Amino acid sequence: MSKHYDLISIGGGSGGLSAAERAAEYGMRTAVVENKLLGGTCVNVGCVPKKVMWFASGINETLHNASGYGFDVDLKSFDWGALVRAREDYIQGIRDWYDNYLADSHIDHLHGTGRFVDAHTIEVDGQTYTADHIVIAPGGKPMLPDIPGVEHMLTSDGFFALEEQPKRVAVIGAGYIAVELAGLLNGLDSEVSMLLRRDHFLSSFDAMLRESLMEEMVNAGVNIMPSISVEGVEKRADGCLDIHCARGIKLEGYDALICAIGREPNVEALHLDAAGVAHDERGYVPTDDYQNTNVPGVYAVGDVTGRVQLTPVAVAAGRRLADRLFNNQPERKLDYDLIPTVMFSHPPIATIGMTEGEAREQHGEAVKVYQTRFTAMYHALCPNKQRTAMKLVCVGAEEKIVGCHIIGQGADEMLQGFAVAIKMGATKKDFDDTVAIHPTSSEELVTLR
Ligand code: FAD
Ligand code: NDP
Repeated sequence: MSKHYDLISIGGGSGGLSAAERAAEYGMRTAVVENKLLGGTCVNVGCVPKKVMWFASGINETLHNASGYGFDVDLKSFDWGALVRAREDYIQGIRDWYDNYLADSHIDHLHGTGRFVDAHTIEVDGQTYTADHIVIAPGGKPMLPDIPGVEHMLTSDGFFALEEQPKRVAVIGAGYIAVELAGLLNGLDSEVSMLLRRDHFLSSFDAMLRESLMEEMVNAGVNIMPSISVEGVEKRADGCLDIHCARGIKLEGYDALICAIGREPNVEALHLDAAGVAHDERGYVPTDDYQNTNVPGVYAVGDVTGRVQLTPVAVAAGRRLADRLFNNQPERKLDYDLIPTVMFSHPPIATIGMTEGEAREQHGEAVKVYQTRFTAMYHALCPNKQRTAMKLVCVGAEEKIVGCHIIGQGADEMLQGFAVAIKMGATKKDFDDTVAIHPTSSEELVTLR
């Protein structure tokens, strides 16, 4: 006899947990299927361990800058192993919290790999379960190129498993993960090369952000190698890696090579076809605005949908779906427009809405841009200076703000509040009418001319 639920989430990460938790709050019988660790990518091999490493890197930066404020700091050593152990203890605490929370909320945790038998039945390690509603939330996994020696590459998962600090590292890729890992390793005094296949990184970001970040990373000592295509990796007898690139270029003697060229959906085990769930050629499961797949009663949230791949997006989609299904809110759905995001680079980037290029393409002459670049007060006294840059992209006679882009210390904590205003339709005049908070960097955003 199969156990029956109102809702089952396949995947115990940000999206699957959120849908099940919210459904349970409405009194529904729910279960979460997870074959690895509760919390999924974000908690175990994503946002959380990354942010811990970013904080550590920032502390090192502060120590290096302390002399500007009169401190004579003698830095004796940095213990990578101790940091990793503390980080993993912290993460274990989050997982324990989830375990208790699921038990307290009467959400069943089904350990194992979920696969569809039909649209309302799944099998988990030989046991079948049925549900009125099934949420597909298996997330994604890192992609690797099909080249000789690929087994010597680390992905972001492998990076978080490192017990020793790699002293000489190459990073392939040009997106969030490549930029963040290269930045934090450099901040922890590893020697870092970034291998870009084009002449820039962060293609989808506003040009001001990517150009400013590239300048800061080069100033901070990252060796950025543009227009380089990796064709193979070789492990030497001494354990170091040599990287073979196009045009006969050979890069020699790395302790680690991290590959961060994007992610792909985690769908092979799901047997989507058994339920008739449509997917594209890469495995992404398309949904309508309400997270419905093509099969009634089957939904998808989070990275598997191929939409904005961020934790709060997966969480918001999962919660809204449960609100719609179980709390009589038939129109409840996530608006995927104007989603703020932060890149935990050094310095951090915060961005929402259209880039200047996108706005000009869509609105032509109606676009007006306000921008500034300055050395923030904190850095004025530091030996290692960083610049802060900000841009507001406005449209039309009323100068509605359609994009806000910030790079600089504090950007990560600065944008959330501005994002509320922009989501509400703020204009440049609304910003001008707001009294500045002094002395801060964020005050520049309400005093731009
Ligand atoms: P996941 O969190 O990946 O959860 C899916 C879960 O499903 C996994 O635990 C997996 O084991 C399980 N699973 C898969 N298939 C099955 C199956 N058949 N049966 C049972 N279980 C299954 N986002 C941010 O917003 N901010 C950040 O700072 C940030 N940093 C990141 C850093 C890194 C290095 C990475 C890789 C990602 C980062 N992200 C960040 C993105 C964020 O982690 C994802 O967008 C988010 O985790 C997606 O949630 P999800 O529920 O779709 O999938
Ligand atoms: P991204 O999609 O962000 O970037 C991958 C980039 O790698 C591509 O844009 C491409 O850039 C480059 N690339 C692709 N193939 C190759 C190749 N064969 N050789 C060299 N470069 C290549 O993927 P990530 O893996 O960095 O991150 C996945 C997602 O996770 C992100 O999009 C983001 O949504 C999420 N994330 C969010 C974070 C946050 O919120 N702070 C942090 C980390 C991840 P190009 O085409 O320009 O060469």
